Amino acid sequence: MLAFDDAKQRVLDQTRAVTETEHRSVADALGRVVAEPIRAALAVPGFDNSAMDGYGVRHQDLSAEAPTPLQVVADLPAGQCLETPLAAGEAVRIMTGAPIPDGCDCVVMQEMVERQESRITIPAGQRPHQHIRNAGEDIAVGETVIEAGCRLTPPDLGILSSQGITDVTLFRRPRVGLLSSGDEVVQPGTPLKPGRIYDSNRMALGAALRSLGVEPVDLGHVPDDLPMIERTLRKAGDTCDAILSTGGVSVGDHDLVKKALQRFGSINFWKVAMKPGKPQAYGRLGKALFFGLPGNPVSGLAVFLLIVRPALLKMMGATPEPTPTLTATLTTPLHKRPGRVSFLRAVVTNEGGEIVARSTGAQGSGILTSFHQANGLIVFPADAVSVNPGEQVTVIPITW
Ligand code: AMP
Ligand code: MG
Repeated sequence: MLAFDDAKQRVLDQTRAVTETEHRSVADALGRVVAEPIRAALAVPGFDNSAMDGYGVRHQDLSAEAPTPLQVVADLPAGQCLETPLAAGEAVRIMTGAPIPDGCDCVVMQEMVERQESRITIPAGQRPHQHIRNAGEDIAVGETVIEAGCRLTPPDLGILSSQGITDVTLFRRPRVGLLSSGDEVVQPGTPLKPGRIYDSNRMALGAALRSLGVEPVDLGHVPDDLPMIERTLRKAGDTCDAILSTGGVSVGDHDLVKKALQRFGSINFWKVAMKPGKPQAYGRLGKALFFGLPGNPVSGLAVFLLIVRPALLKMMGATPEPTPTLTATLTTPLHKRPGRVSFLRAVVTNEGGEIVARSTGAQGSGILTSFHQANGLIVFPADAVSVNPGEQVTVIPITW
């Protein structure tokens, strides 16, 4: 049996990043990967501006020991500039974001200021440059604001917009074919006959692909029928960058997906020393990378998170990032046989400053509700047989 880390590494090694690029609107770029570094053409902020609603003054006018009276000569809302410099004894009413006038070098919060008509009194103790945001303090002209390989987040889209950028060069999205298999599997919306089950995998995995920013190509559902599986896969191998299938990769009489692949793809059938997700099939089919996931709903999603997702991120052109993990105090006892690393669906919470993790309960590979409650996967190492409450465990936060 292949160790989990080796399986993950082999899949990563076999994965090639897409190289083709396309221009897309920033509005459509969330979760997509940037193909070229983006440099700042504008400083942000573009001008010194007020960080507070208050009064702009000349610090040199203020007495260090006593309140100072000043004359308010203008009102500066955000978006308006004062053409004339501030003269001795003058102040401006200034709002957050309004440009700091020439001569002004200090903003006093309005809460601290007494006003009578156009006269104000500034208390002692103001510091020069206080409450002023300096031009370029966020972004300097020429700086790289987004690196190639960055998978764009909401703040990244904000940064691009702050530069006035409307379009970006992105790697094209990988086309990932998705099919479910199995004679017993029927589609929601159709009647359920005795012994049959609804197809939950295709919906769940399709959603997981979409939330990753990958375009799922729906290859539908195929029964356990070798010629039909072969036809579907052969077609997909010509058009897809990757193919995900569920079911049919175990050792049962009807596990035909791996058989179909052995016929005309290059296929590795692996038993991976992980739980859930022992039977998996990897390989190549035409120009597509093939990921044969187990049919059990929990196993399919766990393998997706732990092995497929990192590979697809590489395929998308994203710069690799280490998997973030937490150390938590276990509150429920864990037991298993040695040999396979176990990834237990868990709820991680902060109890009075201590990060604690508990199993969501039954961990069978058909118990899909175990994922519903979970926000993390406890890593129960291959050789370990028990972990007691109070001991520390590693938890991988679940990110879809
Ligand atoms: P298999 O990997 O084909 O041996 O299937 C393992 C288990 O997963 C069986 O109990 C199947 O009925 C179930 N299963 C297979 N495909 C799906 C699917 N698309 N949705 C839900 N359960 C499935
Ligand atoms: Mg099956």
